[in-house]
This record gives sequence, structure tokens and C-alpha cells, in this order.
Amino acid sequence: MSERAHSLVGVFGAGQLGRMLALAGYPLGLRFLFVDPSEGSPASACAEQLALDYGDEQALTRLSSCDVVTYEFENVPVDAVRRLAGRVPCFPPPRALEVAQDRLAEKTCFQELAIETPKFAAVSTRAELDAAVAAIGLPSVLKTRRFGYDGKGQEVLRTAEDVDRAWQTLGQSALILEAFVPFDRELSLVAARARSGQTVFYPLVQNRHGDGILRETRAPAPNLTPELQALAESYVTRLLGELDYVGVLALELFQVGGKLLANEFAPRVHNSGHWTIEGAVTSQFENHLRAVLGLPLGPAAALGPAAMLNLIGQSVDAEAVLAVPDAHLHWYGKEPRPGRKVGHITVRAPDWATLDERLTLLAKLL
Ligand code: AMP
Repeated sequence: MSERAHSLVGVFGAGQLGRMLALAGYPLGLRFLFVDPSEGSPASACAEQLALDYGDEQALTRLSSCDVVTYEFENVPVDAVRRLAGRVPCFPPPRALEVAQDRLAEKTCFQELAIETPKFAAVSTRAELDAAVAAIGLPSVLKTRRFGYDGKGQEVLRTAEDVDRAWQTLGQSALILEAFVPFDRELSLVAARARSGQTVFYPLVQNRHGDGILRETRAPAPNLTPELQALAESYVTRLLGELDYVGVLALELFQVGGKLLANEFAPRVHNSGHWTIEGAVTSQFENHLRAVLGLPLGPAAALGPAAMLNLIGQSVDAEAVLAVPDAHLHWYGKEPRPGRKVGHITVRAPDWATLDERLTLLAKLL
């Protein structure tokens, strides 16, 4: 057994993604140290959590004694990670965090790599907003460049009144205006790239959002064609190469006919990859750990049709969920609050029709 298999993995962030990383790491003999300012976060049930700020010197000193440092959350201060990267390997590279933290840098990166993306313009004044609306047209979406997630910090603009209202709400922040995409569906591609450069791609999955929050993922995406998968893989290959990437990355896409437009990427394990725990040969969490530790990656093939349902702000009757054939419940140990992801269910089936029947049973419980 190689030494890497007993490594101490430092993780910025201790939410449910960190918890699932730890759960995937234990069979490999890995140990974990989490840093997250919110005391008693989900990962703290699995390993030590330092309840300190991400840039705290004491936290950085402890992390520097790890074998490798990674993130389960992309809004880690990049300068703190850059300082740490001189002392301990940090993956994905800090530049991936930097690009993903700013929607303008992210969309500019897509454009430079010839990855199709919605038309966009930077907005920092009311006059720039008017010019951007004139150039891009309505409907469009005004978003904060930083710290937006789960649909927060964004407004859809359909009328001149919406432009005024959105400016009132968001005008304090640096913004980006994007064309509103009348997509057929939303898809995402999760990939893992090892330190050796070995890369694996999970199948494209289909995502349904409500109020900007992921509700359901179907994997693989129904009616997935080899052409669509190849197009998405070519986008992600360019991104991984450009960022000299190591770890799991997720690219969120809009499908319009045979076209794919990139919305955003996450430099970490992703909610639309949770199905891989039961639904793929190797989970995204295990492959992320293998990647950052310099171990070979496992196959990313799906085992069959699967769906993942997020539990948002609500508890669920575990007994009833687990009575549905091949349903698997993940509870993150969080107090239910409106809009908060507190768990998820993955359900598998031998075919799509049976999967639909099982989803109907589960829908009654939610
Ligand atoms: P985001 O925070 O950028 O991932 O946006 C959250 C959700 O809002 C997306 O998953 C889409 O459902 C919707 N959305 C975001 N940007 C656009 C856009 N340019 N056109 C249409 N829908 C969008």
C-alpha cells in the first residue's frame, strides 16, 4: 500500500461536499482536516473541523502540515491559498478558484477557449447597464460577478421597469449582464483530471432547477447522443488544459438544439455529481481524492439510469424513502431551513420507465 493512501487531506469548507469527500476517503485509509468558520458543519461529524476563518494564520499553519490541500467550496480567499501553495500541494490550482470566483473572468475564459457562452457584458455603472441592455437586448439576466450561488444575486430583466428594479437591488456590486438563454434543458459534465494528466468524464446529466436551486438530476441525461457528449468533453478538455487542472471540475451547460452554451464551472465536486456515489463505477468524491493525491483515477461509467433529488429545507420520512426499491438516502446533519440543501436521495432502476415509477413514489413523499 502506498503512503499516499494514508495521507492527511486538508479541506477548505466543511459542508456536505466535505462530508461526502471524507466518507469516500475512509476506505482508502485517508484522514481529513476541515477548515470552516461555521462551527459544527456537516463534515465535522467525520473528522476534525477548525472553526476558523479561511485566511486565519493558525488554520493555514495546520493545513500546511497536511499532505495535500483541496476545497469543497470555491469562495476561499485566493491569496490565502496562494500563500499555502508554497508550503503544501494545493489542488485544484489557485488560478481555477480565481477564475471561477468572478463570472466575468469565467465567461472571458470560455470566450478565449472558443467555448460557446451566452453574450455578456461587464456592468459597473447605471450607464453601462443601459449600454449593455441595448447591446444584448431583453430578456437578459443581471448577476453579481462574485458570491452568487443557488440563484442568489441575480435578476431576470424582461422590461424597462425590471432594469430599474434590478439596478436598485444589485447596483452596489460589480455586475455582469448576460443574454437570457431559452434553453431546451440544462446539462452538466463532471470530469476528473489526475496529477499525471489522466482524465475521465462522467456522462452528461440533465438538471432541473427551481428558484435557481438544483432540484433534480437525471443520469445519464435522457436522449444523450455521442455528439453531445463529445462536444461537452471538448469544452471541458480545453478548460482543464488551460487551468492546468487537477481534481474534479463540473461544467454547467444550456442545451439549445444541438448547441451547448457554458453557464459556469465549479472547481470542485458538484451537486449534479452526487448520483455517482451509487450510480457510477467510481464516485466523483473518490475520483477527486485520487486525483489530488496523485493516484490513478477509477472508471466514470454509469451503472444504469439514476436520478438524484435534492432535499431542500425539508425533512423526509426515512422509512418511506428507503421502502422505495433501490432508493438511497443521504442526510447531511443540518437543521432544515427554507432554501437550504439538507440531504439528497439517489434512486436507480434497470430502465427509464421503472426509474420514472420510482420517482413518482418519491415525489409523493417530498
Ligand atoms: P447560476 O447561478 O448562473 O448557475 O444560475 C442559476 C440558474 O439560473 C441556472 O441554472 C439557470 O436555470 C438560470 N440561469 C442563469 N443564467 C441564465 C441565462 N443566461 N439564461 C437563462 N437562464 C439562466
